[in-house]
Amino acid sequence: MTEKSWADAKKLDIEYNLKTIREEISRAAALSGRCEQDIDFMAVTKTVDEQFINHAIACGIRLIGENKVQEMLRKKPNLNLSGVRKNLIGHLQSNKASQIVGEVDMIESVDSLKIAREIGKQSVKKGLVTDVLIEVNIGKEESKTGFMPEIVEESIAQMAEIEGLHICGLMTIPPICEKTTELCKFFTNIYNMYVDIGSKKLDNVNMNILSMGMSGDYAEAIRAGSNHIRVGSKIFGPRIY
Ligand SMILES: *Cc1c(COP(=O)(O)O)cnc(C)c1O
Repeated sequence: MTEKSWADAKKLDIEYNLKTIREEISRAAALSGRCEQDIDFMAVTKTVDEQFINHAIACGIRLIGENKVQEMLRKKPNLNLSGVRKNLIGHLQSNKASQIVGEVDMIESVDSLKIAREIGKQSVKKGLVTDVLIEVNIGKEESKTGFMPEIVEESIAQMAEIEGLHICGLMTIPPICEKTTELCKFFTNIYNMYVDIGSKKLDNVNMNILSMGMSGDYAEAIRAGSNHIRVGSKIFGPRIY
């Protein structure tokens, strides 16, 4: 196949995949008393070439996510981002905070007080308020970043005081589970936490976004209460690093 016909075939795949996923989002949303529009559908674009990201945008994607600061900044000028939000979803190092603040619509991966303070500091410097989600290590895995479930609430109360930061909800990546029932337990645990913290009505904290669900589990996540899913390989195919 020529380069061009390969790219054209891949674009057709992307269209087909988006259609399939949207249908599944609709079904899962209906099963939890909502509709497709209630679920924010992010295309995770790490390692994906700009032409395919732009194709997904042409097919109606209005939210993209990258997990690395450099990759986000490198691709941004080549994307048709009018009306498209872009979020950072990967672990952020303190020394990169100054580069990303003001360049994205939201940082979904606030996983320590230290990084929360740094994002706040850089935001104040630029005269901005940065929307963030608090990442929860719902399975208490050593290999993952994020706040342990026991300290999420008190940590949020502390972070709510940070100037330049606006907390909009929670984000999680659950452990790999063999059984769906096991996975759903993690989703339900964080959903309950999300509702509970929201009901406290802390100053400067809104629990409006629950970001969970990826290629393999977005339907289960939606049924368990997610309103923001992050899907990569199911749209663009396997990642080649
Ligand atoms: C890569 C990534 C995703 C998407 O993963 P897929 O399984 O390809 O859908 C979602 N969330 C985060 C934080 C990621 O890094």
